[in-house]
Amino acid sequence: MNLLRKGETADFSITGVWANKAEQEAKKLGFNTNIIYDDKANNYTLVPNLNDSNISANAKYLHITSNNTIYGTRYKTLPKIKKVPVVADMTSDLLSRKINVSDFGIIFAGAQKNIGPSGLTIVIARNDLIEGVKEPMPVLLNYSTIAKNKSLQYSTYLLHLHRQTSL
Ligand SMILES: *Cc1c(COP(=O)(O)O)cnc(C)c1O
Repeated sequence: MNLLRKGETADFSITGVWANKAEQEAKKLGFNTNIIYDDKANNYTLVPNLNDSNISANAKYLHITSNNTIYGTRYKTLPKIKKVPVVADMTSDLLSRKINVSDFGIIFAGAQKNIGPSGLTIVIARNDLIEGVKEPMPVLLNYSTIAKNKSLQYSTYLLHLHRQTSL
């Protein structure tokens, strides 16, 4: 939602359940998806080596799931793509290995599997990618607003509700 306008396209590498869900959700919201790799036929036993030649001409980014939680497979070599930013769901392997953060446009992870309490989500985003966030966008999901408020807009919102209810 933060990187595409309606009708724009992203590439997806389907290496498991979570990658598949990401692609399905993107379609639901009216974005176009190109599936550049899908290992469903092998019950997600293989993970591709992706490079710039795999990226579609019209893609704005490539989405990957770095570790496939349910299938126990992962990208041993994480893709280094120059053509488009790589957006990686690292929910089940963030902090488990060294990564070069600058190889990614956006890294996101739910904290509950590898890092900390459920309900916390970590997003590491390249500043230039989130500057012109696409509207309409719910403010709680807007990376640009979140960055501007140093991740505090949710607590500001709760404080606002609290003040209203105690009046
Ligand atoms: C568990 C998992 C999710 C979903 O996390 P929830 O916050 O529990 O819905 C997303 N991506 C990956 C790779 C996961 O392992």
